[in-house]
Amino acid sequence: MMNSLWHTRAASLNIDGRALIGGRRVWAASNQQFDDVSPIDGRVLGPVARCDVADVDAAVAAARAAFEDRRWAGQAPAARKRVLIRFADLVLANTAELALLETLDMGKPIQYSQSVDVAAAANCIRWYGEAIDKIYDEIAPTADNSLALITREPVGVVAAIVPWNYPLIMAAWKIAPALAAGNSVVLKPSEKSPLSALRLAEIALEAGLPPGVFNVVPGFGHEAGAALALHMDVDCIGFTGSTRTGKQILQMAGQSNLKRAWTELGGKSANIVCADCPDLDAAVSAAVGSIYFNQGESCNAPSRLFVEASIKDAFLEKALALMPRYQPGDPLDEATVMGAIVDATQMKNVMRFIASGQADGARLLAGGVATREDTGGFYIAPTLFDQVDGAMEIAREEIFGPVLSVFSFSHIDEAVREANASPFGLQAGVWTSNISKAIQAARALRAGTVHVNQYDGDDMTVPFGGVKQSGNGRDKSLHAFDKYTELKTTWIAL
Ligand code: NAD
Repeated sequence: MMNSLWHTRAASLNIDGRALIGGRRVWAASNQQFDDVSPIDGRVLGPVARCDVADVDAAVAAARAAFEDRRWAGQAPAARKRVLIRFADLVLANTAELALLETLDMGKPIQYSQSVDVAAAANCIRWYGEAIDKIYDEIAPTADNSLALITREPVGVVAAIVPWNYPLIMAAWKIAPALAAGNSVVLKPSEKSPLSALRLAEIALEAGLPPGVFNVVPGFGHEAGAALALHMDVDCIGFTGSTRTGKQILQMAGQSNLKRAWTELGGKSANIVCADCPDLDAAVSAAVGSIYFNQGESCNAPSRLFVEASIKDAFLEKALALMPRYQPGDPLDEATVMGAIVDATQMKNVMRFIASGQADGARLLAGGVATREDTGGFYIAPTLFDQVDGAMEIAREEIFGPVLSVFSFSHIDEAVREANASPFGLQAGVWTSNISKAIQAARALRAGTVHVNQYDGDDMTVPFGGVKQSGNGRDKSLHAFDKYTELKTTWIAL
């Protein structure tokens, strides 16, 4: 049933695909544009500036000028804090518009665009605003005749390149600590979902962020993205995206000016449920809810589920009973919990993985099919494979869609070994009522985050990031300041 409120709002929404450079909305210097297509129904939302080297040069020059004249970096932390808090307030005040842009652009349900994406982005900006005037520099313990100060300075011009799955949150995780620390930023959103980032930067200007401090260059990875990664006047690049592109970013950073490069990459997270799990219903609902949330397009989705053999049948029966809740619906309907896959290419990728799982002999228990095809959009039913083994492609590759692969094990050591047999190491889960077993597994699991008896631990105070080929950086928490600040030592003779 169509929710007319959001459809009416969508029909009258202003779509502005121009870049934001030096405080002004502009088309690309080349005047090139690309069509922004909504995955909800395949409709073109509007043209977006296709920025290239010339636009990136202009944005980096604007960011550099703003950094050098200290219009932002030179303000007291308490003054930067006031702007960032106003920025967070304005993000919340514009929730309906930002949420609508997010849903139209990438297909996620409108209820989550509001309650998760916009809310988390505002919270992140507020959190770094609140933090920045509470951080002290250091004095080193040197001799009586000297004073050595260790101070944190902004690195200068930060480039942020982000993916399409959580456009606002990914942007906020990069720009908020970078801006709070006094840097200037050039953000490149994904070509698949550029609209909310453009509006976000406009809101930052309304909040009082000086022009040139936060620039946005929409465009393609091999054009605007590569131009940023190769730029000789970008001091630091914060990248979130696939492992394949992350490797290219590190190469480009090395072959240009050796800019600092931080990567937050793909995942194939393992969730291990032991027979002595304290609450089977909670484990089932977390396993199912976490993989199908955001249509499975989450880097930390627990896409590999290891269930102890003695409880597997009971587990699967409960999991299958939850499937109706996750059938894709109209993303603009407030009751929908699973929306559209971001575009035709991603839809094809996921369907190819499903076919490969079937060809490799995994047992398809649910889904595996496209739905809502009459809408012109891209939808896949929640998919569940049993009898998956570690050699199958669906066990090894990041699918980035609503596909859960179930393995069984008879001893936790076996599950931990299999969980670690992956090039990725973003997150992991373990469910057991035996505290020693939980802690030993948490220590042995090679992941940036391990959840015990839950899979939704999430707070601005804790770092988010991976090990192995899931990346080398950490977003969120005070630790993110390490990425966007340099330590300077000043020796003073006394
Ligand atoms: P992607 O690597 O294709 O693109 C990410 C960004 O990089 C986009 O803005 C894209 O335009 C740009 N890009 C692409 N090629 C480039 C190049 N040669 N030079 C410079 N920039 C380039 O990834 P995606 O498909 O947008 O996002 C999905 C991936 O992101 C998944 O692997 C997912 O796990 C990962 N992800 C990781 C995290 C995390 O925190 N670890 C969070 C969200 C998503």
